[in-house]
Amino acid sequence: MAFQERFYCDVCGKEKGESGDWWLAWVDCYKAHDDAPEQPLLKLTRWERVLSHSAEVKHLCGAACAGTLMDRWMSAQHENQDESCATV
Ligand SMILES: [Zn+2]
Repeated sequence: MAFQERFYCDVCGKEKGESGDWWLAWVDCYKAHDDAPEQPLLKLTRWERVLSHSAEVKHLCGAACAGTLMDRWMSAQHENQDESCATV
């Protein structure tokens, strides 16, 4: 039975087609050194089918939307500089 998966860009809402320059992004934790608290880290990678099903992952239709997502995330981080992974 054929099942057509549908993905939409989490920034602009565009539907993913067969082609296109699609990316995946998610927030992970980073600990710079032993005494540092874990802090949020934004990760970006090219489209990967299995990872695209992950609940936390953001789907991005290209560099422009990846840039927008990063911009929003950076603004939120700037507003809340003490944010640790535990509070995300
Ligand atoms: Zn988009």
